[in-house]
Amino acid sequence: MTYNIAIDGPAGAGKSTIARRVARSLGYIYVDTGAMYRAMALHILHQGIDPKDADAVAQACGSAEIDIRYEGGEQQIILNGENVTGELRREEVGNTASQTSVYGCVRRKLTQLQKELAARENVVMDGRDIGTSVLPDAQAKIYLTASSRTRAQRRFLELQQKGIEGNIDEIEADINERDYRDMHREISPLCQAADAHLVDSSDMAIDEVTDAILSICRGAGCC
Ligand code: C5P
Repeated sequence: MTYNIAIDGPAGAGKSTIARRVARSLGYIYVDTGAMYRAMALHILHQGIDPKDADAVAQACGSAEIDIRYEGGEQQIILNGENVTGELRREEVGNTASQTSVYGCVRRKLTQLQKELAARENVVMDGRDIGTSVLPDAQAKIYLTASSRTRAQRRFLELQQKGIEGNIDEIEADINERDYRDMHREISPLCQAADAHLVDSSDMAIDEVTDAILSICRGAGCC
């Protein structure tokens, strides 16, 4: 039997930072499912396909080979034999991912990969549909959110640290557009699972959020 922890929530809620810390504390593997959707988006961008062209996306999806492996505990995404991890965080890739993640063919392929991984290993998996669709039997489910202004501020600071200038209002508008798409798509939309614990991190420090989630996980029997 494996232990599975599902962390879902909107863009920029801090899921990956927190999930990585929780995984390290428990000695589990951290699985960033957004990176898989981003890799598929990169494949579609590489082929010059319009994300709105459903037939072309379905064809490209069939030819994409996405693998996941771990180096020094860090998830690496291999797209068609090439390690593309470093390219996935670009805004263009994230925006394309939110458009191409609406398609059934994309979701089926990546969900299958995620389920296989969680059946083999103890995982902390973050995404949009983990508690509701990918791992409905996860021992602990968390819905991590924060106000859109807070999330935009965090992303702004993240960009600033990388030496990239951003406009906070544009970042917030972008986040809101992405959330709307993720929450209103037909297949596996982003929503809080009925049995998920809600954590609003708007006024919480990273350590506080990590501790709160660890305590939920331990309470659910994860060790
Ligand atoms: O979390 P991240 O920003 O990397 O995700 C990029 C996009 O991938 C999201 O906006 C969402 O559309 C999609 N995604 C998804 N289901 C997941 C993880 C990500 O639809 N489990």
